[in-house]
Amino acid sequence: MKSFKSLHKNALKNIHTQQNKFLIAKIFATLEPHCENIVSHFYRALLNNASAIKFLNHDTVKNRLRLTLAKWLLDSFSFQETEDDLERYYQYQREIGHIHARIDLPMSLVDHGMGLIKRQVLLVLKDSLLERDELADAMIIAIELLDWSLAVIDESYEHDLVINEKNAQSLKMHISAQNLAFDYERLCTSLSEWMRNLLLLIAQNKYDASMQSTIRHSNFGLWISHKAHLFLAGRPELAVLVTLVDCIDEEMRHLATYSRQQNSLEIEQTLQRLNECISKSIWVLGNIAKDMIEEENGRDPLTHLFNRRYLETVMRHETGYSLENGILFGAVMIDIDHFKRINDMHGHDNGDKVLEQLAELLSRQVRAGDFVFRLGGEEFLIILADVNLAVVQRVAEKIRVVIANNAFKLSDNKTVDITVSIGTAVHDRHPDFNRTLKLADDALYIAKDEGRNRIVAAQQSPMTYGSII
Ligand code: GH3
Ligand code: MG
Ligand code: MG
Repeated sequence: MKSFKSLHKNALKNIHTQQNKFLIAKIFATLEPHCENIVSHFYRALLNNASAIKFLNHDTVKNRLRLTLAKWLLDSFSFQETEDDLERYYQYQREIGHIHARIDLPMSLVDHGMGLIKRQVLLVLKDSLLERDELADAMIIAIELLDWSLAVIDESYEHDLVINEKNAQSLKMHISAQNLAFDYERLCTSLSEWMRNLLLLIAQNKYDASMQSTIRHSNFGLWISHKAHLFLAGRPELAVLVTLVDCIDEEMRHLATYSRQQNSLEIEQTLQRLNECISKSIWVLGNIAKDMIEEENGRDPLTHLFNRRYLETVMRHETGYSLENGILFGAVMIDIDHFKRINDMHGHDNGDKVLEQLAELLSRQVRAGDFVFRLGGEEFLIILADVNLAVVQRVAEKIRVVIANNAFKLSDNKTVDITVSIGTAVHDRHPDFNRTLKLADDALYIAKDEGRNRIVAAQQSPMTYGSII
């Protein structure tokens, strides 16, 4: 991306020269009085386009698009004086691309819209009082500037698509639990056999220190070196397994030394440590296989709720459904109050127990069509399908009260009480679902600030939604 960045920035710098400064200012002055007309024309034309209606038929978009588009248009012909100005302008265009990607706006629609704007800009310039030579230069620069913006917007859009695609691919590799379950059996057999062979050799006094019986040549060792990074990329277990292989190698070196010295006491202790490493490897592999089967279904292994990975898919679907059917959904963001204290006072395992029970409790409070996510740590999100603000508030209050009144079981027959803070928001039919989540999240932070164990509903007047671009 860096090379793209400098490529685009250099291209912009080449247009924003001191030589062109005067001409760019003239283009700006020429376009400014026509800006509103250009935007109106753009908007009318796009509203006749069936595929554009889905994205534009939102009050906020309708109201704000005109303003933001007019601003964007004038910004396109504002001279960027310094490096910082260029950087800011570049980032501004990139952000537009990110938003387009997030709301799934087809790139062809953006290109089509840009074509409409370009034509209008050229028509205004053509009818201006610019001299012939100057007019030609102005037209060239105007096209260059608009093409530049489109290139940056498209590039960041594509970048996001590629990232999504890469995630999807790594996800596929990552969650192919069936593959791992198959390998898992063989890996455990390989580890056990390796250990058994070693013990046998030693018992029969046939162990030779020069033998190449390193773990790296076993099925397990080969899997760790060649395949584990595909399955376990980003997982802490990968480092644990690699360390275990190193430990086994190290112990094997000790074994060679002790067997040369015929030090039977040390040999026995080394074998014991080796056995522990092997058992731990099998245990870690078993845990990974179990987690992966959970994750394959998009579930969090501890609570069995949906995890964050599934969020985007669900939100896209719910947003699409809402746009098509005119039905609202609610977002209820929940965070346990002072959860760190529970861990500190009762231990992490008890903390986990509380999370499990809370997950079960939340699942029981919602209908089959709703979604309960564990977003991470002690933060949960419920997406309530087909609701209005009043229903969202009622469900949130029911959840708050049920949690506050529940005695969460700990080990040793103890119990603990917890409270939660909740932020709520209702989807407002804006195509960018991130807004709804952010509104709920912001409301949650207000609930925390205001003293916890409470619900705060997002203030949702149309102007808080911001602009589509
Ligand atoms: P606040 O009321 O501001 O939310 O305070 P808090 O203590 O709940 O929030 P903070 O974010 O400071 O701490 C969250 C704690 O949650 C810290 C972390 O150790 C704990 N936690 C996160 N994930 C897990 C988990 O899977 N199991 C357990 N037992 N604890 C977890
Ligand atoms: Mg918390
Ligand atoms: Mg938290």
